[in-house]
Amino acid sequence: MNNFAGSVAPRRLQRPPGSGPDSNPQPQVPPLSDRMEKIVSLCKRRGFVFQSSEIYGGTGSVWDYGPLGVELRRNVADAWWSSMVHARDDVEGLDAGILMHPRVWEASGHVSGFTDPLVECKTCKRRWREDHLADASCTRKPSLAPGHHDECELGEPRLFNLMFKTFMGPVEDDASVVYLRPETAQGTYVNFLNVQGTARQRVPFGIAQLGKAFRNEITPGNFIFRTREFEQAEMQFFVKPGSDEEWFDYWRAQRMAWHESMGIASQRLRFAAHGPNELAHYAKRAEDIEYEFPFGWQEFEGIHNRTDFDLSRHQEFSGKRMEYIDPASNERFIPYVIETAMGVGRAVLVVLVDSYREEEVEGETRVVLGIHPTLAPIKAAVFPLVKKDGLPEIATGLHDSLRKARIPSFYDQAGSIGRRYRRQDETGTPWCITVDGEGLEDQSVTIRDRDTLEQVRVGIDHVVEWLRSRL
Ligand code: ATP
Repeated sequence: MNNFAGSVAPRRLQRPPGSGPDSNPQPQVPPLSDRMEKIVSLCKRRGFVFQSSEIYGGTGSVWDYGPLGVELRRNVADAWWSSMVHARDDVEGLDAGILMHPRVWEASGHVSGFTDPLVECKTCKRRWREDHLADASCTRKPSLAPGHHDECELGEPRLFNLMFKTFMGPVEDDASVVYLRPETAQGTYVNFLNVQGTARQRVPFGIAQLGKAFRNEITPGNFIFRTREFEQAEMQFFVKPGSDEEWFDYWRAQRMAWHESMGIASQRLRFAAHGPNELAHYAKRAEDIEYEFPFGWQEFEGIHNRTDFDLSRHQEFSGKRMEYIDPASNERFIPYVIETAMGVGRAVLVVLVDSYREEEVEGETRVVLGIHPTLAPIKAAVFPLVKKDGLPEIATGLHDSLRKARIPSFYDQAGSIGRRYRRQDETGTPWCITVDGEGLEDQSVTIRDRDTLEQVRVGIDHVVEWLRSRL
């Protein structure tokens, strides 16, 4: 960890008095099979994620983000937004409605084709996605894949539409049927010309959206991995036909680099290209970015070449031209679209799984979420070493100045300093700041690094600057 050249000469400390043994962490990553259970339990215990409507027995497919979870989720979404929209001149933001004209979903092909093959067991009445049968398990013992017990009687697969239907207005008839959007992308397509014209963009350019999407998944599960209500971070990049392959390669590389810049271990990330039989009806090429979750390699972001399918279909169904006119050449064309589509909840799960570790520190085990500081829900925790001698006053003053500087901070004076450190390690707080007696004399504090456990002394007036330069 770098020291800060503040008013007080920086130096490495052993540890503040009373902090207990805290050196030479030996990282241990629990076996994959235990990992998920430990993360789910940590999420509940520390207020990251709760089961929705828990007091009523819960809904299996929706999760609520608690105080720390909502911060983490927002930080993931904000980091994505800032890299997509704020850091670039060629991507604009948009926030379209969840409810759209029902013709949108006819044009997009979702009404006729957004289906999964559903298989039901006539004996136990359980249902599965046909393409997930090999990884599913039957309720009977011993645990086997559905269809493998003598009593199993699997029916023929039938197609099940994943869109949630509801009614617009007070009358529940066919004319008032609307859908909860299953992806944010269509809101972007129907606004393509609005955004292009008002933002005075020229092709190639993109439109980014963050927002809720809903899919009536047959088999939700694996905690927040597959849910029926989830948030998407999607960007559609409009390009001239013919340049689409080049742009696909560009975005494919950009997205992988972004995940790595968020601290995700590159050995647990890979690309998986869709074979010709796996491609969606609109796609010319598609590659997933997969992560090695405790339950196997799974997609968490898709990069798709959607061609001019969506804009052409909206032109056909709405009767409105969706063409772009090149101002230099006056050439008219319907742009091709390169899409990057990530689930924010899935990305949160990636961050949690990737950062979770247990460490042996001189005979004691500590649980650490080594979350990248940009994403960490709390950036710094402030502790007075003891609850007397004016230390709490100085510590609360520092906590206030961090909050005023918009650095999410947490004040804690309960329990031994070692326990306070452990509590923050579990929530992924990168830095713990301790005010001790020495600091009373020279107006300094110690800052302990979550990962290296190194401690430096920093002048109290320089703490904000010290933290800012690392965030
Ligand atoms: P899957 O094959 O897992 O069902 P998909 O290929 O249908 O996903 P896309 O339509 O490409 O997914 O959606 C883009 C991203 O949205 C996915 O990579 C994933 O991160 C997220 N996502 C999709 N469905 C869900 C869901 N039910 N719950 C949580 N996130 C989801």
